[in-house]
Amino acid sequence: MRTKIVAGNWKMNKNREETEALLAELSAKLPDTKAEVIVAPTFVNLETAQRSLESSTIKVAAQNMHFAENGAYTGEISADMLLNLDVDTVILGHSERRSYFGETDELLAKKMDTAVAKGLKAIFCFGEELEDRKSDNHFSVVESQLKNGLFHLEASAWKNIVLAYEPVWAIGTGETASPEQAQEMHAFIRKTIAEAYNASIADEVSILYGGSVKPGNAEEIFSKPDVDGGLIGGASLVASDFVAIINAI
Ligand code: PGA
Repeated sequence: MRTKIVAGNWKMNKNREETEALLAELSAKLPDTKAEVIVAPTFVNLETAQRSLESSTIKVAAQNMHFAENGAYTGEISADMLLNLDVDTVILGHSERRSYFGETDELLAKKMDTAVAKGLKAIFCFGEELEDRKSDNHFSVVESQLKNGLFHLEASAWKNIVLAYEPVWAIGTGETASPEQAQEMHAFIRKTIAEAYNASIADEVSILYGGSVKPGNAEEIFSKPDVDGGLIGGASLVASDFVAIINAI
C-alpha cells in the first residue's frame, strides 16, 4: 500500500499571523484521514508553522533548499538548517524554481544528493510544458527529467522520495490535466522507474498530481490507480478548500 499524500505548496503567500490563522483553522477542520497531510509555508514561517502544529498530525515541509553544506551562498538555506527546525521534508524542482530561478536537472540532481545524504524526504517535482504536450514530446520530457534528476541515486534513496507530476500548463491556470491524462502519465512514470530500478521501487513510490487541483476535481483525479494524492497550490491557501481536497482522497 502506497502512502497517500496531500501537500499544500503555499509559495510566497501568508505572513506570520496569516500562517498561524490558516493552520489553526486547518487543524480544527482536519478530517480523520489515513493520508499524510503536509503544508509548505515560506522559509521565514517554518518555525511558526512547526509551533502552530505541535499537537497536530499535519507535517511541515520547506519549498526549496540549497545543495551545499553551508558557506557563501547569500539568500540560501541548507538542509541542516531545515533539520535544525525539525523540518524533514523539502519540495525540490518545482516548475517555478525551474523557470524563474533557472534550476536545471543538473542542479536538482545535486540537491537530491544532499537531501538523500541528510535523510530528508524530497518531494521531487517535474512536468512538461504546453509546447511539449502539443508536439507529443511530453513522455520524453518527463523521462529525461526523471533520468537527469533522479536516476543516478541508489535504490535505497527511493524510500525518501515522493514524486509530484505537475504539467506546467496546468499550474495556477485553472486548467487541469484530465484524470485520464494524469493516470496515463503516472503509469508511464512507474514503468520508467521499474525499468531503471525495479518493480517494487516503482510500485512503492507515491506519485502526486499537481496543477489546479480544486475541491471540484480532486476526487476524480485521486480515484485513478496510479495517482497517490496531490500537490496543491492555490487551493491550499483556503482551509475549507484544502480540507475538501483531503476529504477527496
Ligand atoms: P496550483 O499549483 O494548484 O495553484 O495549480 C500547484 C503547484 O504549483 O504545486
